[in-house]
Parts: sequence; structure tokens; C-alpha cells
Amino acid sequence: MTVPYPRSDERRRMVDLQIAARGIRDSRVLAALREVPRHLFVPPPYDRDAYADAPLPIGRGQTISQPYIVALMTELLHPKSVDSVLEIGAGSGYQAAILSILVRKVVTIERIETVAAHARTSLEAVHADNVEIVLGDGTLGYSPGVPYNGIIITAATPEIPGPLKEQLAEGGRLVAPVGDRILQELVVLERHGNRFTEEHHGGVRFVPLIGKHGWED
Ligand code: SAM
Repeated sequence: MTVPYPRSDERRRMVDLQIAARGIRDSRVLAALREVPRHLFVPPPYDRDAYADAPLPIGRGQTISQPYIVALMTELLHPKSVDSVLEIGAGSGYQAAILSILVRKVVTIERIETVAAHARTSLEAVHADNVEIVLGDGTLGYSPGVPYNGIIITAATPEIPGPLKEQLAEGGRLVAPVGDRILQELVVLERHGNRFTEEHHGGVRFVPLIGKHGWED
């Protein structure tokens, strides 16, 4: 039996009280949130609050998302073990670590070099060997891995970048916070040929997606 990472009681409480209690039902997603040590993705002194119901600062004005939002966006992706997923906005690397348990391959793009370097260290610490971190503008996607069964944008975008829609596989799902720089709505697109169905899943708040098909710096 593998030994769980420290603070497993805090993770169990986090999942029970903040995530399952608020309607997340996918048992694989809940298990992944119980497993990944969020405190290893949060820099001190905020790591002591790693299992609180809140986003936290990770430096350079960026944040690790609230655990419930990570769980909700992950569930909305409908991740399958054979899938390849592209994340835009690696941030701390926590969302990528959760996905790494649920799918075959994760590519995550981050535009800030120091943020990407910290994410890499944390992902190595949890042996998330199926995650590739790419430095660059994620609004352009990442063509070497095309097509992706799932795409998750973890920064606020004025609209879904066209290149990302093109890089989605048939039947694939794309989850993103779409709106202005302050408030957004969680949108899910699902691809059927050149048609995309669209679902809306309530209000969220993310830091802005900066790039060619996002906001200006
Ligand atoms: N998924 C992250 C996690 O698990 O910690 C949280 C992401 S944080 C809310 C948003 C991140 O998106 C920031 O690190 C920011 O630098 C990054 N970002 C913003 N615009 C980007 C772009 N065009 N390409 C790649 N990363 C971008």
C-alpha cells in the first residue's frame, strides 16, 4: 500500500465539506482531490491554509484556484483515462496534478517563466510524470499534441480563443471562464464536427488570460 502524503485528514475534510457537499459527484475526481497534496503547490506562508475554501497567492500576482472550482471544472471536462488534455494557465501546477491522475497525458502552458518553474518543481515532487509544462502563450494552443480530448482554460478570457477550438478532438470538451476581467461565467463547449454545443455553469472569478487571443498585458 502506498503511504498517503501528509495532511490527508485535512484533504478528506476539504473534499467532504467543500466539494462533495456542494454537488461534485464524480468519484474519480473526488479521489484525485483526496490524493494530491495541495499544500505542496502553495508557497509559504499560505501553505498552512492550503485546505481552506479559497484561492491563494502563488506569486507574480497569480493564484491557485479554489479547490471547489478545480473540482467543478475537472468534472465538467468528463475526463477519461485514455484522454489527452491541454490546460492553459499552469499556475501552481495543482490542476495539472489532479488531471494527471485522471487522464493519460496532460500538457499545461504557462506564460510566466518563474511560475512555470515552481509548477515544475511541485509536479516533480508528486511524480506527475505524464504532465508536460510548456512556456508560452496558451491562447495559441500547442499544436504538437493535437487533437486534445479536453481543453481547460484556467484564466479569464473575453472569448474562447479560435486556435483552441480548432485543437479540440471530435466529441471533446473545452471548459473556460468567459467574461470580462473581473467576473466570468463557466462555459463548456463540446465539439461535433464544426459545430459546438454550449453549456453555462454559473459565475466565477479568475485572473486574466493575457495573450494574442486573450487580454492585452
Ligand atoms: N491552473 C492553475 C493552478 O492549478 O494553480 C491556476 C491558474 S491561475 C488562476 C492563471 C494562470 O494563467 C497564471 O499563472 C497566469 O500566468 C496564466 N496565464 C495567463 N495568460 C496566459 C496565457 N496566455 N498562456 C499561458 N498562461 C497564461
